[in-house]
Amino acid sequence: MTPAGRDLLALDRAHVWHPYGPMPGRNDPYLVQSAAGVRLRLADGRELVDGMSSWWAAVHGYRHPVLDAALTDQAGRMSHVMFGGLTHEPAIRLAATLVELTPPGLEHVFLCDSGSIGVEVAIKMALQAQRALGRPGRQKLATWRGGYHGDTFHPMSVCDPEGGMHALWTGVLPAQVFADPPPAAFEQAYADSLTDLIARHEGELAAVIVEPVVQGAGGMRFHDPEYLRVLREVTAEHGIFLIFDEIATGFGRTGRFFAADHAGVSPDIMCLGKALTGGYLTLAATLCTPEVAAAISAGEGGGLMHGPTFMGNPLACAVASASLGLLSDGRWAHRVRDIESSLRSGLEPLRGAQGVADVRVLGAIGVVQLDHPVDMARATAAAVAAGVWLRPFRDLIYTMPPYVTDDADMARITAGIAAAVAAS
Ligand SMILES: *Cc1c(COP(=O)(O)O)cnc(C)c1O
Repeated sequence: MTPAGRDLLALDRAHVWHPYGPMPGRNDPYLVQSAAGVRLRLADGRELVDGMSSWWAAVHGYRHPVLDAALTDQAGRMSHVMFGGLTHEPAIRLAATLVELTPPGLEHVFLCDSGSIGVEVAIKMALQAQRALGRPGRQKLATWRGGYHGDTFHPMSVCDPEGGMHALWTGVLPAQVFADPPPAAFEQAYADSLTDLIARHEGELAAVIVEPVVQGAGGMRFHDPEYLRVLREVTAEHGIFLIFDEIATGFGRTGRFFAADHAGVSPDIMCLGKALTGGYLTLAATLCTPEVAAAISAGEGGGLMHGPTFMGNPLACAVASASLGLLSDGRWAHRVRDIESSLRSGLEPLRGAQGVADVRVLGAIGVVQLDHPVDMARATAAAVAAGVWLRPFRDLIYTMPPYVTDDADMARITAGIAAAVAAS
Protein backbone atom coordinates (compact mmCIF):
# COMPACT_ATOMS: atom_id res chain seq x y z
CA MET A 1 0.00 0.00 0.00
CA THR A 2 1.34 3.44 -0.98
CA PRO A 3 1.45 6.30 1.58
CA ALA A 4 -1.34 8.03 -0.43
CA GLY A 5 -3.43 4.86 -0.15
CA ARG A 6 -2.80 4.71 3.58
CA ASP A 7 -3.91 8.35 3.94
CA LEU A 8 -7.12 7.66 2.02
CA LEU A 9 -7.94 4.68 4.21
CA ALA A 10 -7.34 6.77 7.33
CA LEU A 11 -9.82 9.39 6.04
CA ASP A 12 -12.26 6.60 5.13
CA ARG A 13 -12.05 5.20 8.65
CA ALA A 14 -12.56 8.65 10.17
CA HIS A 15 -15.45 9.90 8.03
CA VAL A 16 -17.09 7.41 5.67
CA TRP A 17 -19.97 5.09 6.47
CA HIS A 18 -20.04 1.76 4.68
CA PRO A 19 -23.09 -0.51 4.24
CA TYR A 20 -24.52 -1.93 7.45
CA GLY A 21 -21.37 -0.87 9.28
CA PRO A 22 -20.38 0.78 12.54
CA MET A 23 -18.44 4.06 12.67
CA PRO A 24 -15.49 3.66 12.53
CA GLY A 25 -15.57 0.44 10.52
CA ARG A 26 -14.54 -2.86 12.08
CA ASN A 27 -12.24 -3.84 9.20
CA ASP A 28 -10.60 -1.61 6.62
CA PRO A 29 -12.27 -1.92 3.22
CA TYR A 30 -10.09 -2.69 0.18
CA LEU A 31 -9.17 0.43 -1.77
CA VAL A 32 -10.08 0.06 -5.46
CA GLN A 33 -8.25 2.17 -8.02
CA SER A 34 -9.96 1.10 -11.22
CA ALA A 35 -11.85 -1.76 -12.80
CA ALA A 36 -11.95 -3.20 -16.31
CA GLY A 37 -13.58 -6.30 -17.73
CA VAL A 38 -14.17 -8.63 -14.77
CA ARG A 39 -11.21 -7.33 -12.77
CA LEU A 40 -11.01 -4.90 -9.89
CA ARG A 41 -7.57 -3.31 -9.53
CA LEU A 42 -6.67 -2.49 -5.94
CA ALA A 43 -4.52 0.47 -4.95
CA ASP A 44 -1.74 -1.91 -3.89
CA GLY A 45 -1.60 -3.30 -7.44
CA ARG A 46 -3.41 -6.60 -6.82
CA GLU A 47 -6.11 -7.62 -9.29
CA LEU A 48 -9.24 -9.45 -8.23
CA VAL A 49 -11.75 -11.29 -10.40
CA ASP A 50 -15.11 -9.83 -9.39
CA GLY A 51 -17.47 -12.56 -8.20
CA MET A 52 -20.16 -10.08 -7.11
CA SER A 53 -20.92 -7.91 -10.18
CA SER A 54 -21.02 -5.04 -7.67
CA TRP A 55 -24.14 -6.54 -6.03
CA TRP A 56 -25.87 -8.01 -9.10
CA ALA A 57 -25.37 -4.90 -11.21
CA ALA A 58 -22.25 -5.03 -13.44
CA VAL A 59 -23.45 -7.79 -15.77
CA HIS A 60 -21.20 -6.65 -18.65
CA GLY A 61 -18.15 -6.10 -16.43
CA TYR A 62 -16.42 -2.75 -16.01
CA ARG A 63 -15.43 -0.09 -18.55
CA HIS A 64 -17.41 -1.71 -21.33
CA PRO A 65 -16.66 0.38 -24.45
CA VAL A 66 -20.32 0.52 -25.52
CA LEU A 67 -21.54 1.66 -22.11
CA ASP A 68 -18.65 4.12 -21.71
CA ALA A 69 -19.54 5.63 -25.10
CA ALA A 70 -23.25 5.89 -24.24
CA LEU A 71 -22.37 7.73 -21.06
CA THR A 72 -19.93 10.20 -22.62
CA ASP A 73 -22.21 10.82 -25.62
CA GLN A 74 -25.08 11.67 -23.30
CA ALA A 75 -22.85 13.82 -21.07
CA GLY A 76 -22.04 15.80 -24.21
CA ARG A 77 -25.75 16.62 -24.64
CA MET A 78 -27.00 16.99 -21.06
CA SER A 79 -26.36 15.17 -17.82
CA HIS A 80 -29.65 16.03 -16.24
CA VAL A 81 -32.81 18.08 -16.53
CA MET A 82 -35.86 18.02 -14.28
CA PHE A 83 -38.65 15.65 -15.35
CA GLY A 84 -41.61 17.79 -14.25
CA GLY A 85 -42.96 19.44 -17.39
CA LEU A 86 -39.95 18.30 -19.43
CA THR A 87 -39.09 15.02 -21.11
CA HIS A 88 -36.23 13.64 -23.21
CA GLU A 89 -35.30 10.90 -25.63
CA PRO A 90 -33.17 8.77 -23.24
CA ALA A 91 -36.09 8.31 -20.81
CA ILE A 92 -38.67 7.82 -23.57
CA ARG A 93 -36.59 5.20 -25.40
CA LEU A 94 -35.75 3.34 -22.20
CA ALA A 95 -39.39 3.23 -21.05
CA ALA A 96 -40.58 1.97 -24.44
CA THR A 97 -37.91 -0.78 -24.45
CA LEU A 98 -38.80 -1.86 -20.91
CA VAL A 99 -42.47 -2.15 -21.85
CA GLU A 100 -41.45 -4.33 -24.79
CA LEU A 101 -39.19 -6.61 -22.72
CA THR A 102 -41.26 -7.08 -19.57
CA PRO A 103 -44.16 -9.55 -19.28
CA PRO A 104 -47.34 -8.64 -21.19
CA GLY A 105 -49.67 -6.12 -19.57
CA LEU A 106 -47.04 -3.84 -18.00
CA GLU A 107 -47.30 -0.64 -20.02
CA HIS A 108 -46.45 2.32 -17.81
CA VAL A 109 -43.03 3.12 -16.38
CA PHE A 110 -42.03 5.22 -13.40
CA LEU A 111 -38.28 5.94 -13.44
CA CYS A 112 -36.66 6.63 -10.10
CA ASP A 113 -33.32 6.68 -8.39
CA SER A 114 -32.75 3.38 -6.60
CA GLY A 115 -34.23 -0.03 -5.95
CA SER A 116 -35.62 0.83 -2.52
CA ILE A 117 -37.36 3.88 -3.96
CA GLY A 118 -38.67 1.73 -6.82
CA VAL A 119 -40.25 -0.56 -4.21
CA GLU A 120 -41.65 2.47 -2.34
CA VAL A 121 -43.24 3.60 -5.60
CA ALA A 122 -44.67 0.12 -6.22
CA ILE A 123 -46.23 0.09 -2.75
CA LYS A 124 -47.52 3.62 -3.20
CA MET A 125 -49.08 2.59 -6.52
CA ALA A 126 -50.85 -0.35 -4.89
CA LEU A 127 -52.12 1.65 -1.90
CA GLN A 128 -53.20 4.63 -4.00
CA ALA A 129 -55.00 2.37 -6.49
CA GLN A 130 -56.85 0.51 -3.72
CA ARG A 131 -57.95 3.82 -2.20
CA ALA A 132 -59.09 5.07 -5.57
CA LEU A 133 -61.07 1.85 -6.05
CA GLY A 134 -62.97 2.62 -2.83
CA ARG A 135 -61.05 0.16 -0.63
CA PRO A 136 -59.08 2.46 1.72
CA GLY A 137 -58.92 -0.28 4.36
CA ARG A 138 -56.52 -2.22 2.19
CA GLN A 139 -53.23 -0.88 3.43
CA LYS A 140 -51.20 -3.97 4.21
CA LEU A 141 -48.86 -6.09 2.18
CA ALA A 142 -48.39 -9.83 2.26
CA THR A 143 -45.18 -11.61 1.45
CA TRP A 144 -43.27 -14.73 2.38
CA ARG A 145 -40.46 -14.77 4.89
CA GLY A 146 -36.87 -14.77 3.68
CA GLY A 147 -37.33 -11.82 1.33
CA TYR A 148 -35.40 -8.60 0.80
CA HIS A 149 -36.92 -5.47 -0.73
CA GLY A 150 -34.67 -2.60 0.31
CA ASP A 151 -33.66 -0.45 3.24
CA THR A 152 -36.16 2.42 3.38
CA PHE A 153 -39.01 1.96 5.84
CA HIS A 154 -41.88 0.45 3.85
CA PRO A 155 -39.59 -1.92 1.91
CA MET A 156 -37.96 -2.90 5.23
CA SER A 157 -41.37 -3.88 6.57
CA VAL A 158 -41.62 -6.65 3.94
CA CYS A 159 -38.03 -7.88 4.38
CA ASP A 160 -37.58 -11.08 6.34
CA PRO A 161 -38.58 -10.19 9.92
CA GLU A 162 -35.45 -11.80 11.40
CA GLY A 163 -32.83 -11.07 8.72
CA GLY A 164 -34.39 -7.61 8.31
CA MET A 165 -34.10 -7.08 12.07
CA HIS A 166 -37.72 -6.03 12.60
CA ALA A 167 -37.09 -6.33 16.35
CA LEU A 168 -34.94 -3.19 16.02
CA TRP A 169 -37.98 -1.35 14.64
CA THR A 170 -40.89 -2.52 16.77
CA GLY A 171 -43.59 0.13 16.71
CA VAL A 172 -42.03 1.90 13.74
CA LEU A 173 -42.44 -0.53 10.85
CA PRO A 174 -45.96 -1.19 9.60
CA ALA A 175 -47.01 -4.75 10.52
CA GLN A 176 -47.39 -6.85 7.38
CA VAL A 177 -48.74 -10.34 6.71
CA PHE A 178 -46.07 -13.06 6.44
CA ALA A 179 -46.25 -16.58 5.05
CA ASP A 180 -43.56 -19.17 5.72
CA PRO A 181 -40.63 -19.12 3.30
CA PRO A 182 -41.43 -20.88 0.03
CA PRO A 183 -40.01 -24.44 -0.15
CA ALA A 184 -37.52 -25.07 -2.96
CA ALA A 185 -39.72 -27.69 -4.63
CA PHE A 186 -43.46 -27.38 -5.25
CA GLU A 187 -45.57 -28.56 -2.32
CA GLN A 188 -49.34 -28.45 -2.63
CA ALA A 189 -49.75 -28.06 1.14
CA TYR A 190 -47.61 -24.92 1.12
CA ALA A 191 -49.48 -23.53 -1.90
CA ASP A 192 -52.77 -24.13 -0.06
CA SER A 193 -51.56 -22.41 3.09
CA LEU A 194 -50.39 -19.43 1.01
CA THR A 195 -53.76 -19.20 -0.70
CA ASP A 196 -55.61 -19.46 2.63
CA LEU A 197 -53.49 -16.81 4.30
CA ILE A 198 -54.04 -14.32 1.48
CA ALA A 199 -57.77 -15.05 1.23
CA ARG A 200 -58.15 -14.69 5.00
CA HIS A 201 -56.60 -11.20 4.93
CA GLU A 202 -58.41 -10.05 1.78
CA GLY A 203 -60.05 -7.04 3.43
CA GLU A 204 -56.75 -5.51 4.58
CA LEU A 205 -54.38 -6.45 1.77
CA ALA A 206 -53.45 -3.93 -0.93
CA ALA A 207 -50.85 -6.15 -2.55
CA VAL A 208 -48.67 -9.21 -2.35
CA ILE A 209 -44.99 -8.49 -2.97
CA VAL A 210 -42.37 -11.17 -3.65
CA GLU A 211 -39.05 -11.72 -5.34
CA PRO A 212 -39.89 -14.28 -8.03
CA VAL A 213 -37.85 -17.55 -8.09
CA VAL A 214 -34.81 -16.22 -6.20
CA GLN A 215 -34.84 -14.60 -2.78
CA GLY A 216 -31.60 -12.61 -2.86
CA ALA A 217 -30.21 -10.65 0.06
CA GLY A 218 -32.79 -12.24 2.40
CA GLY A 219 -31.03 -15.62 2.20
CA MET A 220 -30.16 -16.62 -1.39
CA ARG A 221 -32.92 -19.22 -1.61
CA PHE A 222 -34.61 -20.53 -4.79
CA HIS A 223 -38.20 -21.75 -5.19
CA ASP A 224 -40.38 -23.45 -7.78
CA PRO A 225 -41.87 -20.91 -10.27
CA GLU A 226 -45.23 -22.70 -9.86
CA TYR A 227 -45.75 -20.67 -6.67
CA LEU A 228 -45.93 -17.54 -8.81
CA ARG A 229 -48.91 -18.98 -10.68
CA VAL A 230 -50.55 -19.75 -7.33
CA LEU A 231 -50.01 -16.14 -6.23
CA ARG A 232 -51.31 -14.79 -9.54
CA GLU A 233 -54.51 -16.75 -9.20
CA VAL A 234 -55.31 -15.96 -5.59
CA THR A 235 -54.46 -12.25 -5.86
CA ALA A 236 -56.59 -11.83 -8.98
CA GLU A 237 -59.47 -13.60 -7.31
CA HIS A 238 -59.41 -11.26 -4.31
CA GLY A 239 -58.69 -7.92 -5.98
CA ILE A 240 -55.18 -7.79 -4.50
CA PHE A 241 -52.32 -6.46 -6.64
CA LEU A 242 -49.33 -8.68 -7.32
CA ILE A 243 -45.92 -6.98 -7.18
CA PHE A 244 -42.80 -8.73 -8.48
CA ASP A 245 -39.56 -7.28 -7.20
CA GLU A 246 -37.12 -8.23 -9.98
CA ILE A 247 -34.45 -5.77 -8.88
CA ALA A 248 -31.99 -8.64 -8.33
CA THR A 249 -33.39 -11.28 -10.69
CA GLY A 250 -34.00 -9.13 -13.78
CA PHE A 251 -31.98 -9.02 -17.01
CA GLY A 252 -31.00 -12.67 -17.36
CA ARG A 253 -29.44 -13.52 -14.01
CA THR A 254 -31.63 -16.60 -13.39
CA GLY A 255 -31.33 -17.95 -16.95
CA ARG A 256 -34.53 -16.27 -18.22
CA PHE A 257 -34.68 -12.57 -19.05
CA PHE A 258 -36.99 -12.01 -16.09
CA ALA A 259 -37.62 -14.54 -13.34
CA ALA A 260 -41.36 -14.12 -14.03
CA ASP A 261 -40.70 -15.70 -17.43
CA HIS A 262 -39.97 -19.05 -15.69
CA ALA A 263 -43.66 -19.10 -14.76
CA GLY A 264 -45.16 -17.13 -17.65
CA VAL A 265 -46.85 -14.88 -15.10
CA SER A 266 -47.47 -11.14 -15.43
CA PRO A 267 -47.64 -9.16 -12.19
CA ASP A 268 -49.68 -5.95 -11.86
CA ILE A 269 -46.59 -4.03 -10.79
CA MET A 270 -42.91 -4.85 -11.34
CA CYS A 271 -39.73 -3.33 -9.90
CA LEU A 272 -36.43 -3.22 -11.79
CA GLY A 273 -33.05 -1.86 -10.74
CA LYS A 274 -29.49 -3.08 -10.11
CA ALA A 275 -28.41 -4.46 -13.55
CA LEU A 276 -30.74 -2.01 -15.34
CA THR A 277 -27.78 0.28 -16.13
CA GLY A 278 -25.25 -2.53 -16.39
CA GLY A 279 -23.99 -1.36 -13.02
CA TYR A 280 -22.93 2.11 -14.20
CA LEU A 281 -25.37 4.42 -12.43
CA THR A 282 -28.18 4.20 -9.94
CA LEU A 283 -31.58 3.87 -11.63
CA ALA A 284 -34.76 1.94 -10.98
CA ALA A 285 -38.01 1.48 -12.85
CA THR A 286 -41.44 0.56 -11.54
CA LEU A 287 -43.86 -0.68 -14.20
CA CYS A 288 -47.60 -1.16 -13.88
CA THR A 289 -50.66 -2.18 -15.86
CA PRO A 290 -53.20 0.22 -17.39
CA GLU A 291 -55.70 -0.92 -14.72
CA VAL A 292 -53.43 0.23 -11.89
CA ALA A 293 -52.60 3.47 -13.70
CA ALA A 294 -56.24 4.21 -14.52
CA ALA A 295 -57.35 3.68 -10.91
CA ILE A 296 -54.62 5.97 -9.55
CA SER A 297 -55.28 8.64 -12.15
CA ALA A 298 -59.03 8.69 -11.49
CA GLY A 299 -58.58 8.81 -7.72
CA GLU A 300 -58.07 11.53 -5.16
CA GLY A 301 -54.89 13.45 -5.97
CA GLY A 302 -55.40 12.83 -9.66
CA GLY A 303 -51.98 11.26 -10.16
CA LEU A 304 -49.21 9.20 -8.68
CA MET A 305 -47.89 11.26 -5.79
CA HIS A 306 -44.18 10.77 -6.32
CA GLY A 307 -41.52 12.76 -8.19
CA PRO A 308 -37.87 12.50 -7.24
CA THR A 309 -35.49 15.33 -8.17
CA PHE A 310 -33.35 13.06 -10.34
CA MET A 311 -36.29 11.23 -11.92
CA GLY A 312 -35.46 9.81 -15.35
CA ASN A 313 -31.83 10.97 -15.19
CA PRO A 314 -30.64 11.11 -18.84
CA LEU A 315 -27.16 9.69 -18.15
CA ALA A 316 -28.62 6.68 -16.34
CA CYS A 317 -31.34 6.18 -18.97
CA ALA A 318 -28.86 6.39 -21.86
CA VAL A 319 -26.50 3.85 -20.32
CA ALA A 320 -29.47 1.59 -19.42
CA SER A 321 -30.63 1.59 -23.05
CA ALA A 322 -27.07 0.77 -24.14
CA SER A 323 -26.96 -2.10 -21.63
CA LEU A 324 -30.28 -3.46 -22.91
CA GLY A 325 -28.85 -3.14 -26.42
CA LEU A 326 -25.91 -5.37 -25.41
CA LEU A 327 -28.37 -7.94 -24.07
CA SER A 328 -30.61 -7.80 -27.13
CA ASP A 329 -28.58 -10.28 -29.25
CA GLY A 330 -29.40 -13.04 -26.76
CA ARG A 331 -25.78 -14.07 -26.23
CA TRP A 332 -26.23 -13.48 -22.50
CA ALA A 333 -28.34 -16.65 -22.37
CA HIS A 334 -25.44 -18.81 -23.59
CA ARG A 335 -23.03 -17.09 -21.24
CA VAL A 336 -25.37 -17.58 -18.27
CA ARG A 337 -25.72 -21.27 -19.20
CA ASP A 338 -21.91 -21.66 -19.37
CA ILE A 339 -21.52 -19.89 -16.04
CA GLU A 340 -24.19 -22.14 -14.56
CA SER A 341 -22.28 -25.27 -15.59
CA SER A 342 -18.97 -23.81 -14.32
CA LEU A 343 -20.66 -23.09 -11.00
CA ARG A 344 -22.11 -26.59 -10.81
CA SER A 345 -18.82 -28.32 -11.54
CA GLY A 346 -16.82 -25.93 -9.35
CA LEU A 347 -19.13 -25.82 -6.32
CA GLU A 348 -20.69 -29.33 -6.24
CA PRO A 349 -17.46 -30.84 -4.80
CA LEU A 350 -17.96 -28.60 -1.74
CA ARG A 351 -21.17 -30.44 -0.88
CA GLY A 352 -20.35 -32.60 2.12
CA ALA A 353 -17.21 -30.60 2.95
CA GLN A 354 -16.78 -29.74 6.60
CA GLY A 355 -19.10 -26.93 7.67
CA VAL A 356 -21.09 -26.89 4.41
CA ALA A 357 -24.87 -27.21 4.82
CA ASP A 358 -25.95 -26.77 1.18
CA VAL A 359 -24.73 -25.93 -2.31
CA ARG A 360 -27.18 -24.47 -4.84
CA VAL A 361 -26.86 -23.04 -8.33
CA LEU A 362 -29.39 -21.34 -10.60
CA GLY A 363 -28.42 -19.46 -13.75
CA ALA A 364 -25.43 -17.25 -12.98
CA ILE A 365 -25.94 -17.53 -9.21
CA GLY A 366 -23.88 -19.92 -7.05
CA VAL A 367 -24.42 -20.30 -3.32
CA VAL A 368 -22.60 -22.22 -0.61
CA GLN A 369 -24.49 -22.19 2.66
CA LEU A 370 -22.52 -23.05 5.79
CA ASP A 371 -23.82 -24.61 9.00
CA HIS A 372 -22.40 -21.64 10.94
CA PRO A 373 -21.99 -17.88 10.44
CA VAL A 374 -19.23 -16.87 8.03
CA ASP A 375 -16.14 -15.30 9.54
CA MET A 376 -16.39 -12.33 7.17
CA ALA A 377 -12.88 -10.96 7.54
CA ARG A 378 -11.18 -14.36 7.21
CA ALA A 379 -13.40 -15.57 4.35
CA THR A 380 -12.94 -12.35 2.41
CA ALA A 381 -9.17 -12.36 2.97
CA ALA A 382 -8.92 -15.99 1.82
CA ALA A 383 -10.82 -15.17 -1.38
CA VAL A 384 -8.68 -12.08 -1.97
CA ALA A 385 -5.53 -14.19 -1.50
CA ALA A 386 -6.95 -16.47 -4.22
CA GLY A 387 -7.45 -13.41 -6.46
CA VAL A 388 -11.24 -13.20 -6.13
CA TRP A 389 -13.63 -10.59 -4.76
CA LEU A 390 -16.48 -12.06 -2.69
CA ARG A 391 -18.73 -10.49 -0.09
CA PRO A 392 -20.27 -13.21 2.11
CA PHE A 393 -23.07 -12.51 4.60
CA ARG A 394 -24.63 -14.47 7.48
CA ASP A 395 -23.97 -18.15 6.68
CA LEU A 396 -23.67 -17.59 2.91
CA ILE A 397 -20.68 -17.48 0.57
CA TYR A 398 -22.03 -16.79 -2.89
CA THR A 399 -21.29 -15.40 -6.31
CA MET A 400 -23.20 -13.77 -9.19
CA PRO A 401 -20.37 -12.96 -11.61
CA PRO A 402 -20.55 -10.66 -14.65
CA TYR A 403 -21.95 -12.51 -17.68
CA VAL A 404 -18.67 -11.85 -19.54
CA THR A 405 -16.65 -13.98 -17.10
CA ASP A 406 -14.80 -16.67 -19.09
CA ASP A 407 -14.22 -20.29 -18.05
CA ALA A 408 -10.74 -19.65 -16.64
CA ASP A 409 -11.99 -16.80 -14.44
CA MET A 410 -15.00 -18.88 -13.41
CA ALA A 411 -12.58 -21.57 -12.22
CA ARG A 412 -10.77 -18.87 -10.26
CA ILE A 413 -14.04 -17.72 -8.67
CA THR A 414 -15.08 -21.22 -7.58
CA ALA A 415 -11.56 -21.83 -6.22
CA GLY A 416 -11.90 -18.53 -4.32
CA ILE A 417 -15.21 -19.72 -2.86
CA ALA A 418 -13.58 -23.00 -1.80
CA ALA A 419 -10.79 -21.04 -0.11
CA ALA A 420 -13.35 -18.79 1.64
CA VAL A 421 -15.30 -21.85 2.83
CA ALA A 422 -12.12 -23.46 4.18
CA ALA A 423 -11.21 -20.24 6.02
CA SER A 424 -14.54 -19.86 7.76
C1 LIG B 1 -31.03 -4.57 -3.86
C2 LIG B 1 -32.48 -4.83 -3.82
C3 LIG B 1 -33.40 -3.81 -3.48
C4 LIG B 1 -32.95 -2.42 -3.09
O1 LIG B 1 -32.28 -1.77 -4.10
P1 LIG B 1 -31.31 -0.52 -3.75
O2 LIG B 1 -30.91 0.00 -5.08
O3 LIG B 1 -30.17 -1.11 -2.96
O4 LIG B 1 -32.10 0.43 -2.95
C5 LIG B 1 -34.74 -4.13 -3.49
N1 LIG B 1 -35.17 -5.36 -3.83
C6 LIG B 1 -34.32 -6.35 -4.16
C7 LIG B 1 -34.87 -7.68 -4.54
C8 LIG B 1 -32.95 -6.12 -4.15
O5 LIG B 1 -32.12 -7.12 -4.45
